[in-house]
Amino acid sequence: MKYQAIKNYVNGQFVEASTDRKMDVISPIDGKHLSTVPMSTYADLDSAVAAAKEAFPKWSRTPIKERVQIFFRYRSLLEKHLVELAELCSEENGKIYSESLAEIEKCIELTEFAVSLPQLVTGEVLEVSRGVECRTEHAPLGVVASIVPFNFPSMVPNWTMPNALALGNCMIIKPSERVPLSCGRIAELLKEAGLPDGVFNIINGDVEIVEAICDHPGIDAVSFVGSTKVAKIVYQRATSNLKRCLALGGAKNHLLVLPDAIPGMTAQNVTASMSGCAGQRCMAAGAMVGVGAIDHIVEKICEEARKVIPGVNLGAVISKESKERIERFIDEAEKDGAKILVDGRKTVVEGKEAGYYVGPTVIDYVTPNMSVAKEEIFGPVISILRVANVDEALAIENANPYGNAASVFTQNGGAARYIIDRASAGMIGVNVGVPVPREPFSFGGWNESKFGVGDITGKSSIEFWTKLKKSTTKWNPEAGVNWMS
Ligand code: NAD
Repeated sequence: MKYQAIKNYVNGQFVEASTDRKMDVISPIDGKHLSTVPMSTYADLDSAVAAAKEAFPKWSRTPIKERVQIFFRYRSLLEKHLVELAELCSEENGKIYSESLAEIEKCIELTEFAVSLPQLVTGEVLEVSRGVECRTEHAPLGVVASIVPFNFPSMVPNWTMPNALALGNCMIIKPSERVPLSCGRIAELLKEAGLPDGVFNIINGDVEIVEAICDHPGIDAVSFVGSTKVAKIVYQRATSNLKRCLALGGAKNHLLVLPDAIPGMTAQNVTASMSGCAGQRCMAAGAMVGVGAIDHIVEKICEEARKVIPGVNLGAVISKESKERIERFIDEAEKDGAKILVDGRKTVVEGKEAGYYVGPTVIDYVTPNMSVAKEEIFGPVISILRVANVDEALAIENANPYGNAASVFTQNGGAARYIIDRASAGMIGVNVGVPVPREPFSFGGWNESKFGVGDITGKSSIEFWTKLKKSTTKWNPEAGVNWMS
């Protein structure tokens, strides 16, 4: 085992969980045993909630300009430890080093947004009648929790943690049991940056701890990022316990390619979108809908896909089960009559035979009823559907139950606008394969890709992590007597 057994982080200390139940943490790159992670209990969560509750009064009353000083220091520490954090991310998640580097750089950008929050939460004030003033303030919620997925071990925790804490909340994070190492380093860096004990806590575990978070009366709000199946469970359970909840789910993002699209640029974007992070991004291209004569673009996509080499510029998928599941999707599409133009099945990387690799896969002549057209594959696979016009393409995009992202590739501004207006997704790209809105814009999909109000990052997150306090004041008799007296 390369690293020590993972512990929980409560009140500024790494502590043992009160359980013997644990899981192995395996590197998808080469199957190496990295560590073990405890499946914590309700009692473990309870101790973290108690620590967070105790820290809350002092932390929430610390002026925001003082709170964000810690995040200026945290940002510098992320920069200082960039290489180490990126290596750890690759080791536990399987993505290639340059992708991990980009992930940590994104954490820096997210922290930069958090340190700008004092500029954004100034509230409002107005003299509403003579001598009477109304004023609004953003008050923190209290103890909040964040449940995160495996695919971005550092970035998704940093979607929520810096904003939630800078806004005065105390937090408990539940890392993915498959990639729990990066969160532990985040805790160490926050401590080094001067974050008071108890403000940030980590409880490791699986279903049991997620359910405990949804049920615990001391937790005021829950954010979740993961699959739609679990997002629904978490949203229903947390809100039925009267908690505020925002639950981001899975995706099947459609790229609409028009015949006038620039072939080289389109092929590069489509390929990078479907194969980046081994297709394990909620913003990955899931299906491409070609409108009319697009053979020349499909040809270029195949050329680009063949340049994506497993173990070189394509990382591993998270587990053996995931590799097998992705390959089953490809088998099924082939059986149903689709054409496999580039085939990533049975990929083995020399020297990393125990790793979980799937090569880039391009499937053409997919029809809307095939599972590769409908389901989130979460692997480096693009399913190409062919239609005669833009409305048919939109009908396919609109019919899918998700709504994270969609993109259009064209040089026709009018066609692009037509599609932006009609695509049923929260994030739309024009000639952009991965249309992630960068700060200060907010991240969040529609339909079954997100449950709850508002988005998880950017300005929108302020509404989620705070509640408005409205105060009405008067000091002098000039205010007179009226209905407000
Ligand atoms: P997952 O839903 O399996 O797990 C997410 C979290 O939920 C983990 O912490 C896990 O421990 C917990 N969990 C798993 N099963 C549970 C259950 N039955 N009950 C309660 N908790 C449970 O997701 P994953 O495989 O870690 O991540 C991949 C998924 O996340 C994909 O569907 C991807 O699209 C989605 N995702 C979405 C976004 C977004 O912004 N919409 C971002 C990243 C990932």
